[in-house]
Amino acid sequence: MKDYGVNARWFHLFNEAAFEACAEQELEACVEFKTFRADFQAHPELIPIGVDRKPIRYGRLVQGICLSQKEYLAKIEEELLAGIKQFKPRGIWLDYLTYAGWFETSEPDLQESCFCPDCIADFCNTAAVDAADPQEILACYSEEWKQHKCRKIADFALHYARLIKAHGPDCIVGAYMCPWTPDEFDGALTRIFAQSYHDLAEAIDVYTPLIYGSKSGRGPAWGREWLAQSAGFVPEGRKAQLILDALDYPESLEETARSEVPSWGIQVFAGASLFRDKEKAIVFRNSVETIRNLLPGDRSV
Ligand SMILES: [Zn+2]
Repeated sequence: MKDYGVNARWFHLFNEAAFEACAEQELEACVEFKTFRADFQAHPELIPIGVDRKPIRYGRLVQGICLSQKEYLAKIEEELLAGIKQFKPRGIWLDYLTYAGWFETSEPDLQESCFCPDCIADFCNTAAVDAADPQEILACYSEEWKQHKCRKIADFALHYARLIKAHGPDCIVGAYMCPWTPDEFDGALTRIFAQSYHDLAEAIDVYTPLIYGSKSGRGPAWGREWLAQSAGFVPEGRKAQLILDALDYPESLEETARSEVPSWGIQVFAGASLFRDKEKAIVFRNSVETIRNLLPGDRSV
């Protein structure tokens, strides 16, 4: 892989074998750190509550949990701390750092959450609002509700980022992002997933939208189009690094390499398999070279 321009590998959690493999292959090691995603069968108490005061509908890809579940939140933090004490990754990408839903689909089932009594009380205290009813919150305080949720996600991001930087000041802190621009699906990026590029800027060095074209019913130019619009919402001084999907290879990478706005390096989901095919590997090398040439002097991964 190194011969074809790969310089880093991303893997789930603080996996000792993966760190060793990276050292052996002289690749930078980057951790995808699972935050707000859980097995709802095993942990029904984590299922966010919808506007009808019932647990939300969910499918296989759902992410997001009720953020009033302090025990579970403590476990996430313990896991992060244990990892950063033991390992020195080049970067840690916070995964599933959102309110509830799933976006790897062309027809998203978007639901407002979480309206459990604790989350409502938290909102009322923080926003100095007196409203106990989910319908009333959405009808009268939708802006406050959205801002509260975005701030909540950003505060967790900042807390995790500070822990990470305290142990490794040079460790890149990334975040996997819902790939929709702020206006798509009636503002669902912030309204449903509570990912505000602006609010997250203090915590996050690199934003990584999940550009999974076929899964999301989009074409190979999606990444390039996203980059072209990114200056409108990615805060200045922050980087955007796309993650493409091996399923969309090679067209999506070739299109991305044509972008005038460079992605700060590239991730490819399930990308290791591409390097078994020399032709595909050569496309990777050429495309990545083109992207790197637009990033003079920058040490991207
Ligand atoms: Zn809740």
